[in-house]
Amino acid sequence: MPTEITEQKILQALENVAHPDQKASLSASGAVSGIVIKNGNVGFTIEIAPEFAEQAETLKTDAKKAVEAAEGVLSVTVLMTAHRPASQSPSGAPTNAPTNSPTNSLANPAAGQQSDVIRPAKHVIAVASGKGGVGKSTTAINLALALAATGQKVGILDADIYGPSLPRLLGMNKKPETEGNKLVPLDAWGLQAMSIGFLVEEESPTIWRGPMVMSAVQQMLRDVAWTDLDVLVVDMPPGTGDTQLTLSQRAELAGAVIVSTPQDLALIDARKGLNMFKRVDVPVLGIVENMSYFLCPSCGERADIFGTGGAETEAARLNLPFLGAIPLHMEIRETSDAGTPIVASQPDSAHAKIYHAIADKILAQLARSKREAPKFIME
Ligand code: ADP
Repeated sequence: MPTEITEQKILQALENVAHPDQKASLSASGAVSGIVIKNGNVGFTIEIAPEFAEQAETLKTDAKKAVEAAEGVLSVTVLMTAHRPASQSPSGAPTNAPTNSPTNSLANPAAGQQSDVIRPAKHVIAVASGKGGVGKSTTAINLALALAATGQKVGILDADIYGPSLPRLLGMNKKPETEGNKLVPLDAWGLQAMSIGFLVEEESPTIWRGPMVMSAVQQMLRDVAWTDLDVLVVDMPPGTGDTQLTLSQRAELAGAVIVSTPQDLALIDARKGLNMFKRVDVPVLGIVENMSYFLCPSCGERADIFGTGGAETEAARLNLPFLGAIPLHMEIRETSDAGTPIVASQPDSAHAKIYHAIADKILAQLARSKREAPKFIME
């Protein structure tokens, strides 16, 4: 009978690790949260103040080792976050300023680096959808490649903590290297790429839950050595959950691209996504209709299975730009699932041209809507 791992046993193991402030053990310090246990796999978050950032890596290793040594533990995932205590300024220096609440720092654009907003790139674009399976990830990677083809320095972040797809889309599952406290994104077709899927085994259980998802997303934005990015394309998980909120709060989103199939638009699924971005004051750059029409791989004939112009009409009705229609085609599926996205592997194909045209529209939109600091108000 295997030993049962409990939260208490994990905290006991962490009693042997000192908090960097040397005042208490890690468990007594209250820095450990979000403990999740599943079939011997353990995950938790350690929150430390920014002034201990240099010790973060050692602390993480020590905590991992301590818990790994506990009986019955098969694997340990530790996420570090550096939340700023309410009574401290971002530099860690104590302040008496009464205005230093997250609400104020986020709402006040003049606060600049005083806010918790993370800026991994000049423009951060979210690619989102109301539900899964509409081809959001395929669209995200091909758009990222098309944006890069215009000479922009582009990164792609797979923010789908529950079901990362970037390893499949890029045919990659190398572990990223670390540089100081940061993870170095993988280089894929000239893109800087990061996914939780590069860090955890594909078969490992999905142990992430609310608070951990938020920390993980923040960490992927902040603790990755994104370098000189013009655009970071974020492949969002489907729906309107924690990741979307965290991203909208923490990163200065330039805008969101909503991917939808014709049926979903009709079923208003995509609108959930639209409303969620509206609520947090992130501009929607437009709608992409994926699997819009069927292109026969043998005869090339086009069949408008779902009628024509539905998404375009809907976009116009919602007063949103329609960015383009991508056909349902075998080559898009095959290249996407083989880790050779079509814009990279067949750059001159008719399909690639559609993605290029959409990317151009996005760039034009970005140039037009140079946003100021986000106006998101925390409730
Ligand atoms: P999501 O991110 O919305 O879950 P994916 O990008 O993973 O969706 O796509 C789901 C499946 O549909 C994948 O097998 C992908 O290759 C395929 N797919 C996506 N877009 C197209 C397209 N335009 N034509 C054909 N297959 C597509």
